Amino acid sequence: MATLTLKNISKIYPGNVRAVSEVNAEIGDGEFVILVGPSGCGKSTLLRMIAGLEEISGGELSIDGRVVNDVHAKDRDIAFVFQNYALYPHMTVGENMAFGLKMRKFAKSEIDHRVTEAASILGLSEYLQRKPGALSGGQRQRVAVGRAIVRQPKLFLFDEPLSNLDAKMRVTMRAELIKLHKRLQATMVYVTHDQVEAMSMGDRLIVMKNGIVQQVGAPLEIYNKPANQFVAGFIGSPPMNFIHCEVEKRGNDWFVVSEGLNLKMPLSKFHALATTYQNSDAKAVLGIRPEDIHEKSGEPEAVNARVEILEQLGGEVIATCSLGSNEITARLSARTQARTDEQIELVFDLERAKLFDAASGRTLV
Ligand code: ADP
Repeated sequence: MATLTLKNISKIYPGNVRAVSEVNAEIGDGEFVILVGPSGCGKSTLLRMIAGLEEISGGELSIDGRVVNDVHAKDRDIAFVFQNYALYPHMTVGENMAFGLKMRKFAKSEIDHRVTEAASILGLSEYLQRKPGALSGGQRQRVAVGRAIVRQPKLFLFDEPLSNLDAKMRVTMRAELIKLHKRLQATMVYVTHDQVEAMSMGDRLIVMKNGIVQQVGAPLEIYNKPANQFVAGFIGSPPMNFIHCEVEKRGNDWFVVSEGLNLKMPLSKFHALATTYQNSDAKAVLGIRPEDIHEKSGEPEAVNARVEILEQLGGEVIATCSLGSNEITARLSARTQARTDEQIELVFDLERAKLFDAASGRTLV
């Protein structure tokens, strides 16, 4: 069990590549925290610095209150699960899991006990005598996790551990890792570029872009209250729609206007609108999630859109529609009567909409 404190952690690679900038975070004992962001945003670098596999250029990293910047990886009591599993092909599953303990001169009885227990947790008991080459991708990934579990480390670090698996196996392994975390109650830091993985697995997410933390919070907090347009667009699938618009005050009412759109904002947003936009015709970006756009006819506030593409997913239909020069995505009921190339009436749930600063992307309303 471990707590982790990151204070202004930075990484500058040779050639002045700033991969991680001044990251601050507190990770509590037993927490499952996900570092998430697009490829190249610095999440692996940050994880490798926590592991001691990469030198820290600036800042202070503490585990259980002790600064470990200069503590060697093998002395940090951390287990790292890699994307490529890194199993020894000539060893059996059992030998792979036992290897780290053998190196650390554990007694054979203790090794056997831990390997048997980990194999049972991970459903690997009947494969202990097999070589990795004779296992499926999912089973190999489980062996890699097993090798980490037997160490009984303070802290588990995972670097995109599911990205080599097919879609179905990823879903299965996601659930297994959630169960594993519940069972072990261990502190886990998990890197992924997949926002679905992040949303479904993490107690808390640290969302990164260009080496900079954009937002830290529980998955639903980030989904409901994104700090900026980047986070709003990155978390959620299909992604949030963004429409460049102007904010207008007419009489006492506030409107959001764009080509094909003239939306009266709800009363609940007036205060925020009034404090943000003192005058009319301010440029903004309206953000609305596909699940907050509903197909309804005959409503006064409905907008007319043209259906361009319909993706039938069985339980729902994803509709891509054009609204003037804007393109928007809506999640429609599986029973929709919408047809491609026809008009459809859509109602935006503006209570749930966001307005972002057109220049900085900051969430304003
Ligand atoms: P992520 O894990 O989010 O994909 P990385 O941490 O791997 O991102 O990389 C962050 C940035 O640092 C990228 O721009 C990458 O090209 C750069 N980078 C990673 N490793 C090195 C290295 N050894 N030397 C120089 N630049 C690196």
